[in-house]
Amino acid sequence: MRATPSARSSYIVRESHWGFMSGKNTEAPNFIGVDLSGATLRAALLTNDGAIIERREAPMERDNLVEQITRIVTDLRDISPNIKSIGIGIPGLVNRQTDRVIVSTDLPTVVRGNIHSEIMEATGIRAELENDANAAAYGEYKVGAGHGSRHMFYVTLGAGIGGAIIIDGKLWLGASGFAGEFGHITIDAEGIQCSCGNMGCLETVASAANIVRRTNERLSRDATSSLSKLSMSKDFTVADIAREARNGDDFALLMIERTGKYIGAAVASVINLLNIERIVIGGTIMQAGDLILNPIIREAGRRAFQPCFEATQIVAAALGADAVSIGVAMLARDAAQNVTA
Ligand SMILES: [Zn+2]
Repeated sequence: MRATPSARSSYIVRESHWGFMSGKNTEAPNFIGVDLSGATLRAALLTNDGAIIERREAPMERDNLVEQITRIVTDLRDISPNIKSIGIGIPGLVNRQTDRVIVSTDLPTVVRGNIHSEIMEATGIRAELENDANAAAYGEYKVGAGHGSRHMFYVTLGAGIGGAIIIDGKLWLGASGFAGEFGHITIDAEGIQCSCGNMGCLETVASAANIVRRTNERLSRDATSSLSKLSMSKDFTVADIAREARNGDDFALLMIERTGKYIGAAVASVINLLNIERIVIGGTIMQAGDLILNPIIREAGRRAFQPCFEATQIVAAALGADAVSIGVAMLARDAAQNVTA
């Protein structure tokens, strides 16, 4: 849906509010990032420099996504009339050549449909799709904890474990777009079965559900932990474990440290493989802050080649829940500029 003439006039009123310069082609360009990776749809309107002007959040309308995104874009257009492009972060595999979503177990409707052309048709604005972990990595690289590095590896620790590689400012996608599957590095050759079919992947011990599973399995041995009391009234989450560790609960702290050791072992493999300049780690478990970051760094240092390890900075992500929407908007910005350059 293109903007109606009456809507246009309301943009002009708002322009002075936002301090845009007058005249049609001198307005600063803005970009929209839409994050479809969770139960909540998150969208942000950004400046050319990646600063957020406005946010929108709403429960995801899984069967009505194109209409929902179009509504939000129309709403954000009321704030900025000069939206150059829209980025959409997809929890799944995206083919950037064909602009099609190949796989998304969370959002089967976007696999069946053609969200890219439908959004462009409905809004009249250029759109880009990208995998959510790749988008978050790009956001951290451009304006977050990766800023200032040339080569960066990004890890996100959540319901699944994702990764992304940025070499010389560009996402390294691999031969078929799957590069950076950090969660499926084998860390225990005789470990339990992973959802991918392999045995003993990092995900089988360090995804959110598996951290909770391991914690539950050991909980009976430590009835004094605050998590024991919590487990009487509800199923606890990774966020609960991180919080109790920060509050000084010894058992929660032990589980966080052990999880850090597993992640650190996988990080050591990445350091040896890529001799990468910076590794940025985000996701729910990072709410534990240094309590998880320090064991990761210690274990990576113990296992990686020392000259490689010493050249690598391992840091916590900076953009939090905005990483995907910021990153995918920056990807949309850079893709639009490459076309017009
Ligand atoms: Zn796996």
